[in-house]
Amino acid sequence: METEKFIAKEAKYKKNNWRQQHEEFVNNLKYNRKVEAVKEAGGDIRSLGPAPKMTAIESNMVECPYCARKFNPRKILLFLKSS
Ligand SMILES: [Zn+2]
Repeated sequence: METEKFIAKEAKYKKNNWRQQHEEFVNNLKYNRKVEAVKEAGGDIRSLGPAPKMTAIESNMVECPYCARKFNPRKILLFLKSS
């Protein structure tokens, strides 16, 4: 199937920054926890500053050839199979 070949190629090309992606993922998790804590305490989430960047994660996303939504390489296969 052409779509799967396209995705496999994209994923192979892009997966070499996994370490940076992992760091970004962890940073975002921590940030989200802080956001929840501040919300629960009735504080202002702007006091936390901007959310951590997700440069590596976003660069690893694959765009759906049909609807242009972005997915990580594993999820897009599921998405394409389900649609
Ligand atoms: Zn789509």
